[in-house]
Amino acid sequence: MALKVAIVGRPNVGKSTLFNRLVGKRLALVDDRPGVTRDRRYAEGNIGDMDLTLIDTAGYEDVTDESLEARMREQTEAALEDADLILFMMDAREGVTALDRIFAERLRHQHKPVILLANKSESRESGGGIGEAYALGFGEPVAISAEHGEGMADLYAAIVAGS
Ligand code: GDP
Ligand code: MG
Repeated sequence: MALKVAIVGRPNVGKSTLFNRLVGKRLALVDDRPGVTRDRRYAEGNIGDMDLTLIDTAGYEDVTDESLEARMREQTEAALEDADLILFMMDAREGVTALDRIFAERLRHQHKPVILLANKSESRESGGGIGEAYALGFGEPVAISAEHGEGMADLYAAIVAGS
């Protein structure tokens, strides 16, 4: 069985971009269970020679601010339940936000391994964001660019070490 990897984090950090990159051309929905889990996408993918079942948490970008936090919590809870490993993504250019801290607090209180991803790190301005990310308490953030495919070897190594 492929390792189940959930990508969680606040809207717009690049979760779906990474999901699509790791799924690549082999896009094959393995479970889109309508209803309770309709906002999560499951697909088989890989990083290097490692097969993964990827879980993208999505679909709440367009809801109002009042319900956003509750929807995020639902998405995260469901992903946490299903996954073997959590990729917690933040935006290295924007640094750590209040919403990132809400996710971090939740992720600290569960037992599955968490890899912190500092995405959008292709820009040189991202250094500050990566520094802030250390303070979230998940060890060394893995700097990646989901859009440009940078940092994938480091992500591979982190998944091997964390799984
Ligand atoms: P999600 O809401 O977390 O799923 O984020 P998306 O994957 O939809 O990406 C949000 C925006 O960030 C899109 O405009 C992406 O093109 C952009 N984005 C994603 N990854 C990167 C990256 O590595 N670098 C930059 N500069 N932009 C990115
Ligand atoms: Mg998305």
